[in-house]
Amino acid sequence: MEVKRALVTGSSRGIGRSIALELARRGYAVAIHYGRRKELALEVAEEAAAEGAPRVEVFAADLSDQDQAKGLVAAVIEAFGGLEVLVNNAGITRDGLLVRLKDEDWSQVIATNLNAAFFTTREAIKHMMRKKYGRVINVASVSGLLGTPGQANYAAAKAGLIGFTKSVAKEYAARGITVNAVAPGFIETDMTANLPETLRESYLAQIPAARFGKPEEVAKLVSFLASDDAAYINGQTICIDGGLTPH
Ligand code: NAP
Repeated sequence: MEVKRALVTGSSRGIGRSIALELARRGYAVAIHYGRRKELALEVAEEAAAEGAPRVEVFAADLSDQDQAKGLVAAVIEAFGGLEVLVNNAGITRDGLLVRLKDEDWSQVIATNLNAAFFTTREAIKHMMRKKYGRVINVASVSGLLGTPGQANYAAAKAGLIGFTKSVAKEYAARGITVNAVAPGFIETDMTANLPETLRESYLAQIPAARFGKPEEVAKLVSFLASDDAAYINGQTICIDGGLTPH
């Protein structure tokens, strides 16, 4: 069988790490990407190889930097000779109530969580169009659907990513390319590790499953969307949140 090649942005840790390892298990050649944590990315690469990925390479790029975001996909395509799956996962939070948000809290979150996905996807789609095959999966958030106090920047970026997903899906649906988003609720990663206990408890009380999710659970959903079995799912935003989102 032909080996498919996947790039997972922000796969040095958290949800991205789990997605990269799940794709490795399923036989993809995997491009591990990191922003700052090279050592962790190298560890993930070793694990991915041990899980059976036929090929693993590590790529650095600060996705808040427009030029680096633009160059990442081209570098992966050059190294791998092609790209079938792009997972736009890298993301940050810079939380604060609106009146206290600094300009850079806004611009950094928009640059990393939204603009970077535009640059990587544009480059990937150009290649996928020629091959008449592709899977793009954007990691959004329930924040982008529901809104969260203290996350106006993050919710705006994730809502933007969801709109982006829907539009691009329609543009390239006839060329064998699907573009979908996943919207995780609260997942146990570094991003949620430092929540104050009272906030954590109040979030837990709202989740029908009465627990936070695991990165591996998100990874299974993403890898399904990446598979050929998901060919007729397009432009969707699939919540994975223990029942939190009411639709
Ligand atoms: P995480 O544990 O904080 O990991 C974030 C990843 O993004 C790291 O690999 C990090 O790389 C990378 N990254 C951050 N800024 C970057 C930059 N400027 N350039 C390049 N890479 C950058 O986060 P996570 O919880 O796994 O979240 C992954 C995605 O899921 C994010 O898009 C997040 O918004 C979304 N999400 C998370 C939750 C949750 O509850 N955890 C819920 C909904 C959605 P380095 O460490 O190497 O810099």
